[in-house]
Amino acid sequence: MNSAASSDVRRYVIIGNGFAGTTAAEQLRKHDPACDITLFGDEPYTLYNRISLPPMLRRQIPEEKVMIRNLAWHEQHRITLHLRTHVERVVPDERVVEAGGNSYPYDALLIATGGRPNPTGKPGADGAANLFAFQYLDDTRAISKQIDRSRAAVAIGGSFIAYELAEAFASRGMETHWLMRGPRGLHRIIDEDAGALLHEAARADGVHMHYGEEVDSFVRSNGVVTKVRTTNGKEIEAQCYAYGFGLAMNTEI
Ligand SMILES: Cc1cc2nc3c(=O)[nH]c(=O)nc-3n(C[C@H](O)[C@H](O)[C@H](O)COP(=O)(O)OP(=O)(O)OC[C@H]3O[C@@H](n4cnc5c(N)ncnc54)[C@H](O)[C@@H]3O)c2cc1C
Repeated sequence: MNSAASSDVRRYVIIGNGFAGTTAAEQLRKHDPACDITLFGDEPYTLYNRISLPPMLRRQIPEEKVMIRNLAWHEQHRITLHLRTHVERVVPDERVVEAGGNSYPYDALLIATGGRPNPTGKPGADGAANLFAFQYLDDTRAISKQIDRSRAAVAIGGSFIAYELAEAFASRGMETHWLMRGPRGLHRIIDEDAGALLHEAARADGVHMHYGEEVDSFVRSNGVVTKVRTTNGKEIEAQCYAYGFGLAMNTEI
């Protein structure tokens, strides 16, 4: 945070209304009852719990349980919240941020913009109606809808996100394929023995495990992916595809 004593009432601007940004706003209000707090978020929602998105996708909890804060909470804490508002620029020399054609002055600024999913970067992926990342509430709603109209699904990537996707697909009764480049699921965080346990647990849930397989391309028809093809020439047909290929931090501003 920068600091400057420009007036008696300090003006705080926070970019990003996830856990980090909203918690910072809450703590500022607690420690400085008089201050002015402006919070920006480019999603349409007040703070929700990303950690609860996998249980929501598994239908173990309803969407209401994912929401953590509502508009009334922001009013009560006198936090001026701008939703659906992407902050485009910070001008440090003038101590303003710019969003939607307006300038907002600050004495102190917190950038808590999190990360966004890396794209697959594979042919056939762009704009496919049944291929999803898994980061936002909107992703979760869209995947859930697609599961309802699908028989088979493919989770792609060896990460925690792909693990959660495979678990959700299996728990919702789909023919589930988990496809990854590495030698085992979660291979960056678990060893071979734990990988064998994970394999057994997944197989017991009926998940088809595909190791050492890298996506070559997504085969499309009428805007939807009909099968994923790997560099080894394997092809898996499904109606629903989702991936976890890591995050890029939102540091542009
Ligand atoms: C499916 C899933 C499951 C997870 N499970 C776990 C778990 O079990 N345990 C765990 O510890 N972590 C888990 N995580 C990770 C955890 O959710 C994140 O670490 C945490 O949400 C990060 O919070 P944040 O506030 O830093 O960023 P974010 O939650 O990413 O919030 C940043 C917000 O800022 C917005 N934003 C970005 N740029 C701008 C801009 N220029 N203007 C306005 N708004 C902007 C973004 O759209 C976003 O809404 C999980 C994540 C996912 C996706």
